[in-house]
Amino acid sequence: NVTGKVKASEVDGLSQHFPLCMSNLHQSLRKDKHLKHGGRMQYGLFLKGIGLSVEEALVFWRKAFGNHTDDKFQKEYSYNIRHNYGLEGRRVNYAPYSCMKIIQSNQPSTGDHHGCPFRHFSAQSLEATLYKNKVGAPQVNEIVRLAKDRHYQLACTRYFEVTHPEMQSGQVGTIEHPNQYFDMSQGKLP
Ligand code: SF4
Repeated sequence: NVTGKVKASEVDGLSQHFPLCMSNLHQSLRKDKHLKHGGRMQYGLFLKGIGLSVEEALVFWRKAFGNHTDDKFQKEYSYNIRHNYGLEGRRVNYAPYSCMKIIQSNQPSTGDHHGCPFRHFSAQSLEATLYKNKVGAPQVNEIVRLAKDRHYQLACTRYFEVTHPEMQSGQVGTIEHPNQYFDMSQGKLP
């Protein structure tokens, strides 16, 4: 169990190693100072998986939701964060979501940022996101094609390979889990 290694203040720096699903959530949280429930669950459990303790998670979300009063934060969000760490309710120590679970989650509606960009973004916004992340045109076409053909995890794997040229192709198995992506991005092979 790696929980406890990462500080709330380190999340911004580490976000360069996040897969697209999580960098999308991180950027939306920074932009809106808020995330809806589905996004908080998906992102909160991922952050737990990278090593944020429950204390650091409370610091992270309290700061991120800067617009809320302490009272509103305590009432509405702190319980859910503690719940994710198995400290409330049925005391289940929830696991971070796998790609399969995220890909099969309900279609995000306006204002939602959960889900997998390769599955839930339109082809146009996936393309724009890839270009923004400095992927070249031939690889953008290849990745968008994989996503269109419903090979979402292969598209994500290809994106990983293209953005991590220092890793030899073949070293990267198929991405199955956002936390696996994060570990591999830091050079930790499965
Ligand atoms: Fe995230 Fe998995 Fe989708 Fe990649 S394939 S963006 S890790 S859910």
